[in-house]
Amino acid sequence: MARIIDAPLTTGEGWGCDPRAVHGQWGALDAAARRGLHYTPEVQAETAPLYEKVRHVIPAIEWPAYAPLISAINKIKKQKNAVILAHNYMTSEIFHCVGDFRGDSLQLAREAAETDADVIVQAGVHFMAETSKILAPEKTVLIPDMRAGCSLAASITGADVRLIKQKFPGVPVVTYVNTSADVKAESDVTCTSSNAAAVVEWAARAWNTDRVILIPDEYLAKNVAAQTGVKIIAWKGRCEVHERFTPEDIAELRAAHPGVVVLAHPECPPEVMAAADFAGSTAALQDYVVEKRPGKVVLLTECSMSDNVAAAAPDVDFIRPCNLCPHMKRISLEAIYDALVEMQHEVLIPEDVRVRAKAAIQAMLDLPKEKPRAFETGLAPVEVELV
Ligand code: SF4
Repeated sequence: MARIIDAPLTTGEGWGCDPRAVHGQWGALDAAARRGLHYTPEVQAETAPLYEKVRHVIPAIEWPAYAPLISAINKIKKQKNAVILAHNYMTSEIFHCVGDFRGDSLQLAREAAETDADVIVQAGVHFMAETSKILAPEKTVLIPDMRAGCSLAASITGADVRLIKQKFPGVPVVTYVNTSADVKAESDVTCTSSNAAAVVEWAARAWNTDRVILIPDEYLAKNVAAQTGVKIIAWKGRCEVHERFTPEDIAELRAAHPGVVVLAHPECPPEVMAAADFAGSTAALQDYVVEKRPGKVVLLTECSMSDNVAAAAPDVDFIRPCNLCPHMKRISLEAIYDALVEMQHEVLIPEDVRVRAKAAIQAMLDLPKEKPRAFETGLAPVEVELV
């Protein structure tokens, strides 16, 4: 049975959505003033270097609305020995201007385990904050908006995993990190899109089996099956952002933008992966753009990723069709500010669940650290056994 963390926001359909319109910043440009924060000459001077990082996405006329919150957040972080872990899907004013550590789920999980801060603010979604708390139980972990869920995490419960294990005894359970602590606690090892294929191959070897349970993302499971040759037992969860991309979208993009290089995230359907030029986790996509410097590129993933990668590759022309994650967009500067000031929305996990979930995450972290592995594109779809 699905566990509902959040009801989706209305995002509008199709390409070209505006994250600020969705999480309400167009209607909340006075958020700083309502908190007694103003765009003074001092704030202007102090935040000028940060504006250089985001001027490609934030018009100068809007900066006075963001800068006071950014300045205040960065000061409170120092006072409270807090760090902000910013996922690649955060909007640029969060990612570049208040984030202390930036990256995909795996990178942020490693940072959570290693930071000596007293407070972690997770600029991401709820399962990421849980992962931080699992790895750093002595720290206070805050999520700026408790409603920041995830369609994948909401698709499965710990009870579901117990039933799956009863049906397939002795088959290793590899669980995508986009799940609740309850689900991780029932798993043998976790994975991210950076290492899913490597973890599945490791699990097959370690359990001496040719079958592995990989839950809950059906498309990630199919894409890993195509990469590895391991027989996969999967769950019918989907990422509501990536499931919307289609091969027809890619054909239209190639026709409209000759020479464009198409990069896809492995939560996309297998047919999309087959039609892309390169595929991998958000970290792998970023590495590809920064290292290869394609003249023109399109990232088939969440909206804000292109904005954030563009700062590191200003010479690359980004085509920006996008699907937006309404859960990620619950996180705003004002929500981060309020969480830090009030120390509100703390993430707590029962200790017995945390200990078991940690064992599954630690099994992943103990595997040899390797560069995010790309997914081969152009492969024929492979069927998996759906539970
Ligand atoms: S982009 Fe997809 S997988 Fe990521 S948080 Fe949003 S719904 Fe979940």
